[in-house]
Amino acid sequence: MFCMAVLALKLTGHANGVSQLHGEVSRKMWKNVWPDLPEEHLPLTSITNGVHNKTWLSREMARLLIRYLGTRWLEDPTDASVWRRVSRIPDGELWRTHKHGREHLVDYARKRLKEQLCQVGATAKEIAVADEVLDPDILTIGFARRFATYKRGTLLLHDVERLARIVNEQAKPVQIVFAGKAHPADHQGKELIRQIVQLSHQERFRHRIVFLEDYDMSVARHLVQGVDVWLNTPLRPLEASGTSGMKVAFNGGLNMSVLDGWWCEGYRGNNGWAIGKGEVYDDLEYQNEVESRAIYDLLEKEIVPLFYDRGSDGIPRGWIACMKHRCSRSARPSAPIGWCSSTRKPSTLPPSSSGRN
Ligand SMILES: *Cc1c(COP(=O)(O)O)cnc(C)c1O
Repeated sequence: MFCMAVLALKLTGHANGVSQLHGEVSRKMWKNVWPDLPEEHLPLTSITNGVHNKTWLSREMARLLIRYLGTRWLEDPTDASVWRRVSRIPDGELWRTHKHGREHLVDYARKRLKEQLCQVGATAKEIAVADEVLDPDILTIGFARRFATYKRGTLLLHDVERLARIVNEQAKPVQIVFAGKAHPADHQGKELIRQIVQLSHQERFRHRIVFLEDYDMSVARHLVQGVDVWLNTPLRPLEASGTSGMKVAFNGGLNMSVLDGWWCEGYRGNNGWAIGKGEVYDDLEYQNEVESRAIYDLLEKEIVPLFYDRGSDGIPRGWIACMKHRCSRSARPSAPIGWCSSTRKPSTLPPSSSGRN
């Protein structure tokens, strides 16, 4: 049968996946295109995606970085020595700049929500409620994607009662801003959006969960510049890269993600959180159960306590250390990391390997 992808692979000068894991998965998928070559020698490499920092970095954060790092990072963001200077940024200044982004996001989300409500002919009273959703001072999780089913946009809603307790915890509340689009023909994707919107209308979630329609670069920019945590829940290994998490990292947000796509390479143990260890189960229902529990556990035991652990000056030092470590390449643990490889690889890596492949 004719296949466009095979035609492209045979005619192209170069082919690559967009993360190490995606390269590996792609070589497995397409090995029959080159039946005479062993899998590791296929002309199908990987080049991990990047993001254009000038497009995604907030003006305030860019100014702060220029003040303490100079301008070299703008020309060569791959120069690790420049990023080490992030440790020189005073915690208070970094926190103020980050908080500014969160305040912007809350304003923007309220405005968008009002417009959404106007469009569907909501009453003045209903529209006025939009002014009260979200809180510029509380831990803010962002989730914005295409609502393709493999991205599991509703994994966070798996146990609604537990989620309600987490977001409404008296002294340590949490809020979530969702945004996304489904392909018009993707009925399952649209159903996921409907579930989130309905939940956001329940009294106990009304101030804590917001869904923004028409996900585009403007929505994305406000989100990645304003969230504290960026959630990514693809079904491994289906996410090729999941690049939006990098936009967040530049702005000082922390990633919480399944070890899939770029996060296999980006996760350093001290710059965010991994949901699980890259396990793949045969039973999807079981996988959803295990991984949603892992998310709730991380939130309750690590993320929420760290965010609200404040000094007398109101600054979360431990949290800021995480924000800074993400920029420090030297922080990579020396133990071998098999996460980037699918099951076949870790067993063949020598124990002293750095985990690169
Ligand atoms: C970055 C971006 C994407 C891609 O991000 P993923 O993490 O791969 O989902 C999609 N849409 C918009 C508007 C973006 O800004």
